[in-house]
Amino acid sequence: MSEIPIKDVTPVNIHEKYDGIAAKHKEGKLYVRSISGFFQRMRTASLWALMFGYFATPWINLGGHQAVWFDLPTRQFHIWGITFWPQDFILLSWLMIIAAFGLFTITTLAGRVWCGYTCPQTAWTLIFMWVEEKVEGSRNQRIKLDNAPLTAGKFTKKAVKHSLWLAISLATGIAFVGYFYPIRDLVPDLLSFGIESSWAIFWLGFFTLATYGNAGWLREQVCTHMCPYARFQAVMFDQDTLIVSYDEKRGERGSGRGTRKKGLDPVKENIGDCIDCNLCVQVCPVGIDIRDGLQYQCISCALCVDACDEIMDKMDYEPGLIRYTNEHALEGNKVQVLRPKLIGYALALATMMLVFGYTVLNRVPLELDVMRDRGALYTNTSDGRVQNSYRVKIMNMSQQAHDFTITLSGLDKSELAGKTHLRLENGEVGALPMSIKVSSWELKRSRTDVTFTVTRDDGLEVHKESRFIGPAGR
Ligand code: SF4
Ligand code: SF4
Repeated sequence: MSEIPIKDVTPVNIHEKYDGIAAKHKEGKLYVRSISGFFQRMRTASLWALMFGYFATPWINLGGHQAVWFDLPTRQFHIWGITFWPQDFILLSWLMIIAAFGLFTITTLAGRVWCGYTCPQTAWTLIFMWVEEKVEGSRNQRIKLDNAPLTAGKFTKKAVKHSLWLAISLATGIAFVGYFYPIRDLVPDLLSFGIESSWAIFWLGFFTLATYGNAGWLREQVCTHMCPYARFQAVMFDQDTLIVSYDEKRGERGSGRGTRKKGLDPVKENIGDCIDCNLCVQVCPVGIDIRDGLQYQCISCALCVDACDEIMDKMDYEPGLIRYTNEHALEGNKVQVLRPKLIGYALALATMMLVFGYTVLNRVPLELDVMRDRGALYTNTSDGRVQNSYRVKIMNMSQQAHDFTITLSGLDKSELAGKTHLRLENGEVGALPMSIKVSSWELKRSRTDVTFTVTRDDGLEVHKESRFIGPAGR
């Protein structure tokens, strides 16, 4: 299956091409017109839901601690009732691979909808643009304001806008750090200037500035020049992938696009349905003209669809001059939704999700580590026995506190000395010095395999092999 060509036809400044006022603009700055419509509503709902999830999640407690908490000092990641330990990092790697395959599947099916509807860069940019419009006004008012000389009024508007942007950025940074530093401690610590963790201060500053810079200043530049996804998406696209596309046959019919009076029938007049109003260009958050064909900058947000449908409605034309479609449909060919590449991605994704789910559900939430004291092979006790020392580490990886008992097998008539009973809170690690003592007469060999067993109060057991070393067998 051949890939569809994606071209870069973005003019240096899109306003220069259409507005003729670029010379007065700061170079490269986009003045995006706001638009309402079905896809804008979908996008806004999706992005607000994600935003709410991002800010609210750190405040939710589960099992006596934050439900999502990446506790780096203890190296425990709590994610909605499951605690991941360093030995579970393979599972986290699986999660990343699942996310990547999810993205491949959705991109093959529906293009860059991730970018248009769920990407954090898109979400924060949308909020920043909303603030900008509330403070500085519509697109035309913003252009006028930027071209006007600096006055007290202009300064006030700019100051208010940047202060609000910084406040949102700071809230974003606090929420981000709150996933690592319990947010119910973080906020009071910040308010009382009592925060001691230098890394928390660093990441708070970093995320505040990154949000302010990315959503306030860089905006579409991040999608166009910094995001690697934009570059490799073409590999996943094919001629059946859903894309936002301009119907060139319809829009450029006969003598082509152009302005006209309302009421003219474009088919009878043999003219294109596009009235060349440029609204689709003005609403585009990445500053491209979709009528030039699919371009890698397009984030599939469909704002141009909403804009054009509004115009088509005003002109009493059929909607859908710009629409979600695919290359095969545009060419009048048969559309193949289920194709080998898509089925392959979906099968790989489903298999990985099943394996991940099975592994997580069958994970034993108890870990036992036994480290033999390497300082001495063995020691002789005052009562004539041979002694080996160990350090026994028990990790209660469950969400509840439990009592644990340690026992030994594999060495007859031996004594396990040390604390053999202990209680551990959820997520707690217990490290115990222990020793095995045995009469040298009982030793058959110089090295004897022994097994430590830790038994939880509900009967769950884990075992760990180790070795007892003594004088040569007699
Ligand atoms: S919004 Fe529709 S009619 Fe207006 S320029 Fe774009 S494609 Fe043409
Ligand atoms: S061309 Fe249309 S779909 Fe693509 S980014 Fe611009 S407005 Fe969104």
